[in-house]
Amino acid sequence: MDCIFCKIIKKEIPAEFLYEDDLVVAFKDIGPIAPVHILVIPKDHIESIVDLTSDQEKLAGRLVLTARNLANQLGISPNGYKLLFRVGMHGGQEVPHVHLHLIGGAPLSENIHPL
Ligand code: 5GP
Ligand code: ZN
Repeated sequence: MDCIFCKIIKKEIPAEFLYEDDLVVAFKDIGPIAPVHILVIPKDHIESIVDLTSDQEKLAGRLVLTARNLANQLGISPNGYKLLFRVGMHGGQEVPHVHLHLIGGAPLSENIHPL
């Protein structure tokens, strides 16, 4: 399978990891649009939020809470941040492996940062 995020999980492509557990990993986005820009992804190859099944509720929760925990650890929670899932073509999803963007560390103007 030729998925860039699966290769990152298998450490075949380098990335700056911040967190790993049984279900998810988190690493820095290669093209950050803010001082903090992290991707939290499932270890299993799931293409999109569209493909999540009801028995993956735990995984969905883990993605969100991992991003929340990292935001707390990085000290950006008091000022707030953005969590973003892009879904499919209209959502602008470019990598077909579910990823939750954690974006923060500076004010995020919708005009300056269209993400
Ligand atoms: P999308 O547009 O699909 O929501 O976001 C994909 C994100 O993955 C982009 O923000 C892009 O910078 C990031 N990305 C793409 N390829 C790589 C890579 O090889 N390594 C890392 N760390 N991030 C990547
Ligand atoms: Zn994948």
